[in-house]
Amino acid sequence: MLKLFYFLHYTVILLLYMEFKPFDSISEKHPSYPDKQQQNEYFTRISAESDQRLRLALEAAEVGTWDLDLVSYTVYWDAKCKQLYGYHQHDFVPFEQVLNCIHPSDKDSVHKAVKEATNPEIRAPYNIIFRTIGADDGQLRWLQCKGRAMFNERNEAVRFTGIAQDITIQQQQKLQLEASELRYRDLIENSAVGKVVFTGRDMKVDIINDAMLEIWGKERENVIGKTLLEAMPELEGQPFLAQLQQVYDTGIPYSTDKAVAYISKKGAAPEPHWFNYNYRALYDAEGKIYGVINTATEISEVIEALHAEKRANEELQFILEAGSLGTWYLDMASYQLFYDAKTQALVGYPPVGSISLDQALSYVYEPDKEKVSQAIRHAFDAGTSGGNFEVEQRTKSGAAWLRIKGRVKFDPAGNPVQLAGIVMDISMHKQLQKHKDDFISTASHEIKTPITTIKTYGQLLEAHLEESGSSIEKSMVKKMNEQVMRLNELVNGLLDVTKMQAGKLNYNETYFDFDELTNSVTEELQLISDTHRIQKRLKAGCQVYGDKNRIRQVISNLITNAIKYSPGAKDIIVNTAVKGDEVTLCVEDFGIGISRDKQDKVFEQFYQAGGEAHTFPGLGLGLYISSQIIRHTDGRIWIENTEEGKGSTFCFALPCDYRNSEN
Ligand code: ADP
Repeated sequence: MLKLFYFLHYTVILLLYMEFKPFDSISEKHPSYPDKQQQNEYFTRISAESDQRLRLALEAAEVGTWDLDLVSYTVYWDAKCKQLYGYHQHDFVPFEQVLNCIHPSDKDSVHKAVKEATNPEIRAPYNIIFRTIGADDGQLRWLQCKGRAMFNERNEAVRFTGIAQDITIQQQQKLQLEASELRYRDLIENSAVGKVVFTGRDMKVDIINDAMLEIWGKERENVIGKTLLEAMPELEGQPFLAQLQQVYDTGIPYSTDKAVAYISKKGAAPEPHWFNYNYRALYDAEGKIYGVINTATEISEVIEALHAEKRANEELQFILEAGSLGTWYLDMASYQLFYDAKTQALVGYPPVGSISLDQALSYVYEPDKEKVSQAIRHAFDAGTSGGNFEVEQRTKSGAAWLRIKGRVKFDPAGNPVQLAGIVMDISMHKQLQKHKDDFISTASHEIKTPITTIKTYGQLLEAHLEESGSSIEKSMVKKMNEQVMRLNELVNGLLDVTKMQAGKLNYNETYFDFDELTNSVTEELQLISDTHRIQKRLKAGCQVYGDKNRIRQVISNLITNAIKYSPGAKDIIVNTAVKGDEVTLCVEDFGIGISRDKQDKVFEQFYQAGGEAHTFPGLGLGLYISSQIIRHTDGRIWIENTEEGKGSTFCFALPCDYRNSEN
C-alpha cells in the first residue's frame, strides 16, 4: 500500500521535474521489445530508474515530500520531510501531531490553507510559508510547502500531497534585507539634511524625509509615489529632471555647491531658493540602477548674507573712496602688511599690495618711527589699549601727514591675529592746526606780557592795601589777584601746548626723590583746599630722572582734577608704589567719574568729557599736557577705575632710576 502511494506520488512529481514521455511512444521508439512481458520488464526497470533519479534530484534539491491521507488523517513523509519537522523517527504521524510542530503564530494560516486546498469547491493550490519547531530537536525552521489535493469520483478529497523545502536561510536573508532596508529608510527619514529617494527613470518619490519636504514646501501625502514633475510641477523647464535622468542612465554622480531652484512652497508663486545638492545612483542586488538618491541643503540664507555682505562692502568701498581713506591690515602670522591702492598712494608704498612690517616702517618719517612702533606695541597690549591703534605720522619725506587708525583682532587665547585699519591724509588738518597753534602761541605771548604786568601791579597793590586799605578793598584786590593767577595758568597751559606741538618745550632733567615731590605737591594743595582731605599713602622710595617741575605739574593736575570733579565728596587718596622697575602714582577720587567710552579721549587736546554742558571750568588741556610730559619721561599714563557717578582713579608710571641713589 505504502509503495503504491509513493509510486503514484513520485510519478506526479516526476511529471513536474522531468520531461514527460507517454508510454506508447516508448514502445514506438523501442520496437525491439515485442512481447508484453518484455514491455512489463522494460517499464519496471524504467520506473525504478526514474524513481531513483527523482530521489537523487529531490535529495540534491533538499526537498522533502509528504502525503496526507485524508481518510485516516495520517501523514506519510520521507526522511527529509521528517527532518524538516525535527523528527527522528516515525514515518507516519497523525496530522494533529504534525500541526503541533508548527509555530503557534503560523498554525491558523496553515490550517486555513489546507482547508482551502482540500475543499472541493475551492481546490486552491497549496503554497505556504510557515515556521516549524522541531519535535525532537526544538529547532526553528522556515518551510515552504507546496501541494495539491486529490479528489475521488464523489468529489471528496482523499489525499493531499506535496513537497516541503527548508527556506530558513533565504528567509533570514530576506528578514535581514528587510531590516537593513528599514534601517536605510530610518536613516533617510531621520536625517537633518534633506533626502529623497527616487525610483525609475521618471523619478518616482519612494522615500522622502521631513527636511526635504520642508525644502520642497510640500506635504508628504502629495508627493509619495508621484513622479518628480507630478510632485513639483514648477520644476518643468528647470534642469533637475534631466540631471537626475543623466545620473540614472550613466551612474555618474552629480553635485553642485550652489544652484538656484524656483520652488513653489505651500502653493505660493515659485520663488528662487539656493541649494547645494547631489544626486547618486542606487543599485539593486544585480548591480542594476533602480533609482537615485538626492541630498540637498538649502543655503538661501548664506547666499543672502553673502549678497548683503557684498552690498555692504560696496557701500563701505564707496564711503572709503568718498572719504579718501585707504585700508590696510597687518597679518600677525607673517608680519606682512597688506594694503589697497589708496593706502599705497597715500603712504608711497610700492604697488605690489603687500610688504613686510619692517619695510613698511621704512616708509615712516625718521623722527616719527619710534612713535609708530610704540603705538603698535601699545595696541597689542589689550589691557591698556583695548586693542585700539592710532598714530599720526609723516610720510617718508616728511611732506605729508597721515592719521592711521586700526584695531587688533585677538584669538580666543588673547593672542593678536591681525591689526586692520584705515589711513587718511591729514596734511591740511595739520596745516590748519599749525595756523591755530601759531595763533594761540602769538596770542598767548601777547597776552602774557600784560598779564605779567597786571600780576606784578596787583601784588604790589595787595601789599599796599594790606597796610592801609579797607577790608573790602583788600578782599577785592585778593580776588582780582586770584583771577589773574588763574588767567596766567591758562595762558601758560596754552603756551605749553603750542611749545609741545612745535617740540620746543624745554625739560630740565635731574634726579629727584619721587615721594618727596609727591608729598610737597600734596601739602601745597591741601593748604588751598578746604573742601577735601588728601590722604597720602606714599611707598615709592625711588628716584626718578626727569624734569621735576613738569612732573610736579602732572601730579598737581591729577589732584586738582580729583578735587574739581568730586564736588560732593571729601576724600582724595594719593598712592605711590614701586612695581618692578617702575614707580606708580594713582590719584583716586569719589566724584563724577567718566563713562568708559570717553576714557581714551580725555588725554586728547581740548577734550572735555562733560561736552557742551561745560559745568566745570577749564580748557581740556591739563591731561593732554600731563600725558605729553609723562611720555617724554618714558612713562605711561592711564585711567584705572572709573565709573560714571562713582569716581575715578588716574595713574601714571615712570621708570625708577637707582643710579643716582647709589652714588
Ligand atoms: P580740564 O579739567 O581743564 O577740562 P583736563 O585735560 O584736565 O582738562 O581733563 C580733561 C577732561 O577729563 C575734563 O574736562 C573732565 O571731563 C575729565 N576729567 C579729568 N579728571 C577727571 C576726574 N578726576 N573725574 C572726572 N572727570 C575727569
